[in-house]
Amino acid sequence: MELDEVLGRIVDEVAPLRGAGEVADYIPALARIDPGQFGIAVADLGGRVVGAGDWQVPFSAQSISKVFTLALVLAGSDESLWRRVGREPSGNAFNSLVQLEHERGIPRNPFINAGALAVTDELISQVGDATGELLDFLRAESGNPDLRVDEEVAASEATHAHRNLAVTHFMASYGNMHNPVATVLDQYVRQCSIEVSCRDLALAGLFLAAHGVRRDGSELLTSRQAKRVNAIMLTCGTYDAAGDFAYRVGIPGKSGVGGGVLAIVPGRCSIAVWSPGLDARGNSVTGVAALDHFTNMTGWSIF
Ligand code: GLN
Repeated sequence: MELDEVLGRIVDEVAPLRGAGEVADYIPALARIDPGQFGIAVADLGGRVVGAGDWQVPFSAQSISKVFTLALVLAGSDESLWRRVGREPSGNAFNSLVQLEHERGIPRNPFINAGALAVTDELISQVGDATGELLDFLRAESGNPDLRVDEEVAASEATHAHRNLAVTHFMASYGNMHNPVATVLDQYVRQCSIEVSCRDLALAGLFLAAHGVRRDGSELLTSRQAKRVNAIMLTCGTYDAAGDFAYRVGIPGKSGVGGGVLAIVPGRCSIAVWSPGLDARGNSVTGVAALDHFTNMTGWSIF
């Protein structure tokens, strides 16, 4: 079956699920999104993109941005990040604080909020304007110069960021924050508020399918580093549902509360799905179901 036929079938398969789940309402600007939307796009190693449904509609990247900040930090440094961030699944909600005290301010992994805040702090130390660096990268890889921060979403999250502020201050109390808390939080909220479509995202994530090589042929990550980022996506990318995601979908994936999921078939392709309704763990109900269908129909699971 051709890929566009696969995607067309998936749109039909998930149609009954459209609108399932709850949109994220702890960020008020995200609560207004029409939950009936669904898009899917697949980019192959040659940069060819096939899409179906609402694959060109922009949505809020949210935690999917954490994959890219992690890659940018690893590209610009040695392994020192791992002295301040762990690599184990947390088994807890993405915004949980409970493990931080036991582990003396060292977040479990770079994809829960605490870990991502440490990664953003690290990127600020490396480049100053972390969001600018991320936007440059996303624009170059997606070929979409119009990618930008949705200022309304950023402002909305910033005024409701009590938990993330608490997490950041808590890590600072253990000396695990190198820049001012306000700066880190501002940059983190802005990176999460970048708008992307499934098309943009599939292309931007392609370097992870291409063993670290960017679309222009230059190397962002070594193949060993790309393997590691993919491994962390598989084990931690969907928080306390990572086991279930691996069980159902069988490839590395990273979700965001905007309803997007970026998934990678190493050596083959990058897939982006989007549908705003979330399950109780903050992962897109219809998006994960679509990926489940995708790996079943193509046989492209890593297992
Ligand atoms: N910006 C969101 C937050 O910090 C990202 C969470 C997510 O997408 N899981 O809560």
